Amino acid sequence: MCADVIAVIKANAYGHGSVEIAKHLENNGVSHFAIATAGEGGELRRNGVKGFIQVFGSCVKEDIAVCQEFHLTPTVCCQEFLQHWSDWFHNNNNHSSSQEKPWVVIKVDCGMCRNGCQPEQLPELIQKCKDLHIPIHSAMTHFSQAWDDPEFTKKQLDLFLQTCRHLRSEGVKLHASNSAGIIQGFGIELDFIRPGIAIYGLPTDPSEETVNKFQSIGLKPALSWLAKPSLVKKLPPGSVVGYDQTYQCKKEEIIGTFSIGYADGYNRHLSTNGMISNISGDQYPVIGRVSMDAITVRLDSLDSNQVYYIMKDDYVSGHSLTKIAAELKTIPYEIGTSLSKRLPRVYI
Ligand code: PLP
Repeated sequence: MCADVIAVIKANAYGHGSVEIAKHLENNGVSHFAIATAGEGGELRRNGVKGFIQVFGSCVKEDIAVCQEFHLTPTVCCQEFLQHWSDWFHNNNNHSSSQEKPWVVIKVDCGMCRNGCQPEQLPELIQKCKDLHIPIHSAMTHFSQAWDDPEFTKKQLDLFLQTCRHLRSEGVKLHASNSAGIIQGFGIELDFIRPGIAIYGLPTDPSEETVNKFQSIGLKPALSWLAKPSLVKKLPPGSVVGYDQTYQCKKEEIIGTFSIGYADGYNRHLSTNGMISNISGDQYPVIGRVSMDAITVRLDSLDSNQVYYIMKDDYVSGHSLTKIAAELKTIPYEIGTSLSKRLPRVYI
């Protein structure tokens, strides 16, 4: 049997817009979602997302009211939380303590050494769920990496299966694999897979090797960032552009100002080496400082109606999200999740 999908749409669906992405996925048969915080789950529910929603972050007492109000499934790593979960339900629903409560996901730490109970703590956690009549939707673990050290990933998966396999006979589902794990084939025979970045066609890191893996299975970036300049003008030679006067026009130059800045996720380090392109692919350098709400670009046209790619939806252009991640010595996750909510998003 094929694993079902838990679509990871935390951090505004990696910048792509979580409500719209969830609705699009729901319309295409996806019924399970994961976000990082209870607040993100509440936003999905308020906007009509109906499926199962798991809160990935290790939930704390303060998250319980939101989880129960919006039917969000918490990820549980310790017994204390289970007690709070049960108490809250009891205190707010006026039910007997033996009534079945909303279910939870149990997370087991099999080598990431972050969230999750230790494997040896799992039996007492399971017992606590039984004592408190809390049903368990599933048990999960998370890989610390899946590309470079397959032996380690295999060890993590084996430990998870040794610890949790027996729960399947009690109806508890199992899941382990994120995008890299799925592409490498780890844990895809379990009940769920949990792709995040691959949904958006972005690679887990900008290296050529990783990009090739994503391309070879037919993925491509879903997102492009387009903008028109808010103003285009000719500046005389010697004009000094932007904060800190870092760029001086050598001759008369056409400078376009775009209402985009680091507050939108256009990183300030792109003040050096940043570039955009027109629709035909001609490239134009970002000059002067990237400021909070504006960038300045040396153009060759005074036409303020021309549309430009701020980020191109491929893996290879200098202004693709992948290459920008490489330029900034980071990973595509950080670039995508930096794209601010104030950017209007259009879905086609
Ligand atoms: N599963 C868990 C527990 C995660 O925290 C994440 C993301 O961080 C994912 C799955 C999805 O990972 P990726 O975006 O690498 O596919």
